[in-house]
Amino acid sequence: MAINLVTGGAGFLGSHLVDRLMEAGEEVICLDNYFTGRKRNIARWLGHARFELIRHDVTEPIKLEVDRIWHLACPASPIHYQFNPVKTAKTSFLGTYNMLGLARRVGARLLLASTSEVYGDPEVHPQPESYHGAVNPIGIRSCYDEGKRIAETLCFDYKRMNAVEVRVARIFNTYGPRMLPDDGRVISNFIVQALRGQDLTLYGDGCQTRSFCYVSDLVEGLIRLMHGDHTGPINLGNPNEFTIRELAEQVRSRINPGLSLVEQPLPDDDPRQRRPMIDLARQQLGWQPTVALEQGLEATIDSFRKVLALEGASGL
Ligand code: NAD
Ligand code: UDP
Repeated sequence: MAINLVTGGAGFLGSHLVDRLMEAGEEVICLDNYFTGRKRNIARWLGHARFELIRHDVTEPIKLEVDRIWHLACPASPIHYQFNPVKTAKTSFLGTYNMLGLARRVGARLLLASTSEVYGDPEVHPQPESYHGAVNPIGIRSCYDEGKRIAETLCFDYKRMNAVEVRVARIFNTYGPRMLPDDGRVISNFIVQALRGQDLTLYGDGCQTRSFCYVSDLVEGLIRLMHGDHTGPINLGNPNEFTIRELAEQVRSRINPGLSLVEQPLPDDDPRQRRPMIDLARQQLGWQPTVALEQGLEATIDSFRKVLALEGASGL
């Protein structure tokens, strides 16, 4: 049976991917350093005969016998990737380098979780894969954006030089259960603020846009990409675009319409607009998102209600 290595497997996306692979009867090795991942996300699989868990940092090499590498290890939320930007750049560059070295040695196929951030603050809208992006190389987001760009570069050079089979997904903003309540991303922030009865924090005037994909749709896209013939890079995201103010209003109306929206300073280099073109994913993977924002928000709000209730009960 094929062995799957999921780096970052205890994180938000990684743990949902682990669930899908385990439910499909696959062998899974989950590798994580627990920077933003949590053991509780994969706790249900501990002790399962097809599941192994390794505490490891991808900036260090590792020897394993595997067939597929789902390379997700990297903090994804601005507050986490900016906490130690040099470490983030190392995780993207050295982590991808180490995983490509492993893929080459054992003949595994590697899927890189890249990002829409490779388009930077895009001047082309919506963003097709052919757009080369507008990224600031020296700003506060650069450790992540440029880190993912060099990770993509490494994938394609390993493919050209060493015939490593690679797949590159450019993931757009994805949300759902298991995001950390304090991870600073907009959907988790708004939901947690509203559930706690706090005002919702709009950075800037809230006119910037994002397009939000529910986690189950995203995982389906990753699985199709890994198993298909198309190398990528390929956009995976939901093309329905919302302003951040519209998102805040949706969350507020669902949880507590009495709350206010308060404006706070916009962080440097915050992209003004973002929406994926997904024609390639439709053609090559037969994939498109199926979960509307209202539906995905309901499920995410429900899960955060439980998480916050547990935290309240334990006095955290
Ligand atoms: P996350 O922070 O929940 O997960 C990242 C996981 O990687 C965590 O479990 C963390 O502990 C682990 N990790 C970080 N550095 C590591 C290291 N050096 N060694 C080993 N493990 C390490 O974030 P996520 O949202 O699940 O994102 C997963 C991947 O998808 C990331 O590569 C991210 O860049 C990419 N991505 C996510 C989104 C999104 O909207 N969620 C969008 C674009 C790209
Ligand atoms: N944002 C906001 N309030 C918050 C958190 C984020 O207005 O409490 C904004 C942020 O400035 C950005 C958008 O929401 O314009 C998405 O932010 P997130 O960090 O979720 O993702 P990214 O900017 O990496 O796409």
